[in-house]
Amino acid sequence: MTQNQRYDLVIVGGGTAGCILAARIAANGVHPETGEKLRILLLEAGPDFRGEARPGYGIPLRRRAFTNVPQDFTGNPRYAMRGGSRILGGSSVTFGGQSHIPFPADYANWNYTTGVDWTEENVAPAAAEVRRVFNVHADPEESLSSGQMRFRTVSRSLGFDVQAYEGAKKNCILCGFCGGGHMCKYDAKMSTLITHVPDAERHGVEILTNVMAERLLFQGTRATGILYTEDGEERLVEADNILLSCGAVQTPALLWKSGFGPRDLLGSKTVIENLNVGRRAHCHPENYIWALFPEALKDGDRGWNAGTYFLHRMNRYGHDSLFFQDSGMGGLAPPDQAITSEFTPEFGRETKEFMKVGRRSIGRVVLWTNPKEAEGYLDDQLRLIYETDHPMVMRRLTEALDIAEEILQKMGAIRMTPKETLLKSIRLPHLASTCRAGTDPKTSVVDSRFRCHDVDNLFICDAGVLPRTSIGSLAMAVATVATFAAQRMVADNFS
Ligand SMILES: Cc1cc2nc3c(=O)[nH]c(=O)nc-3n(C[C@H](O)[C@H](O)[C@H](O)COP(=O)(O)OP(=O)(O)OC[C@H]3O[C@@H](n4cnc5c(N)ncnc54)[C@H](O)[C@@H]3O)c2cc1C
Repeated sequence: MTQNQRYDLVIVGGGTAGCILAARIAANGVHPETGEKLRILLLEAGPDFRGEARPGYGIPLRRRAFTNVPQDFTGNPRYAMRGGSRILGGSSVTFGGQSHIPFPADYANWNYTTGVDWTEENVAPAAAEVRRVFNVHADPEESLSSGQMRFRTVSRSLGFDVQAYEGAKKNCILCGFCGGGHMCKYDAKMSTLITHVPDAERHGVEILTNVMAERLLFQGTRATGILYTEDGEERLVEADNILLSCGAVQTPALLWKSGFGPRDLLGSKTVIENLNVGRRAHCHPENYIWALFPEALKDGDRGWNAGTYFLHRMNRYGHDSLFFQDSGMGGLAPPDQAITSEFTPEFGRETKEFMKVGRRSIGRVVLWTNPKEAEGYLDDQLRLIYETDHPMVMRRLTEALDIAEEILQKMGAIRMTPKETLLKSIRLPHLASTCRAGTDPKTSVVDSRFRCHDVDNLFICDAGVLPRTSIGSLAMAVATVATFAAQRMVADNFS
């Protein structure tokens, strides 16, 4: 970066949303007064894995740098931070690769919740672009394991409408080791590192990696610049417009550090008050129900695939609906998960035998609900505090576990994780809504056009702006909303 250069737009966070916004605004936007190309800077906390994107082949050096084991990324602060992955491409580099373009009920839900005009019709071109660019599609039927076939047959016999789950992959060799928080060795997983970073660079976006934005600077109701650290040194960059895309945890964190947020949390450090920053969090209270079968459910050749899913109790808005997936029926549990499974013999040769062939007989149903009422917030350590004991969450998850148990029993399972254990260990994936968009400044942080209610030239777009988490899994919903946001930002600010 040239010192003291001023940018038309600085984007903080080069993740799923940030890279899409950088690429699309750079490609389609111009300076509104001069008509010239925009000067855009992207600041990203994590490293860049450079090299020509060749989906399905990857980059030989990178293939050697990473194993298909999640420890490379999880718990390693070089590549992870609270709420997601710290790498150019963000959580799209490490997500499970399975994801839904928003359902019609998602648009209805978002509109119902905060009044945003993100209708199915308005967002349709963005959704179509995401489907094409990320190559979102179902796995071929032949890739379903015998366990997945059995899940589908039994669920259909119980009256559920089972559909093919979709994934964002290209030239995938179905090694299946794309889940659990790590990079695809072959670049077959369609992360924004593959889909959008090359475009962003081609259109002149300057990308600074391994830099951490520490604080925004405000003058009245305008954001004037960002203080960030690079190699331990603090630096300042000034901008006419600032867009935050640090994810549903780190965007609120950055705003809080800048004095923007709830006064009850920030006290005398409050510069701009907004009650909703880091609050109104929404996610999927979720359970994994593991089961042991007397025979193998899968061939053991690979990890997971997209498989199948069904929705239950769907209504117009998807409120309190139930989502079931055969995740874990398709591929082997990775060794680190299998060895600690409740079904693994504790000691000796039996353990070895189980790890070698026995783990082909473990299956899993994943289920979650999409609460209408339950919400949460980030505490001062950025931990998510959520109403998992909300009566509707408990009622729905209990019902879902009953259904999953029935399916697994009919599939022939001989042991399952007890329901009581599961209800005490609810997982909370797909965090959204911590800076949610809405028409009422009292209950939201940005408006329907992604502009902060309280600061003229500050925009936010990442998982945090969704008024509610999506009914299915989240990544492609974030990508769709980011593609839509880029269209709106170009129309409003860079035409
Ligand atoms: C391990 C994992 C598995 C998942 N699996 C699935 C799945 O199978 N299917 C699915 O649909 N969804 C999945 N998700 C969820 C989905 O990937 C995320 O919800 C989505 O990608 C979030 O996008 P985002 O743009 O909000 O944030 P991110 O993609 O996380 O991007 C945020 C970026 O901001 C950067 N950043 C943060 N703070 C700063 C700062 N102060 N300065 C500079 N840069 C900063 C980060 O390094 C990161 O690159 C998964 C998520 C994770 C983490």
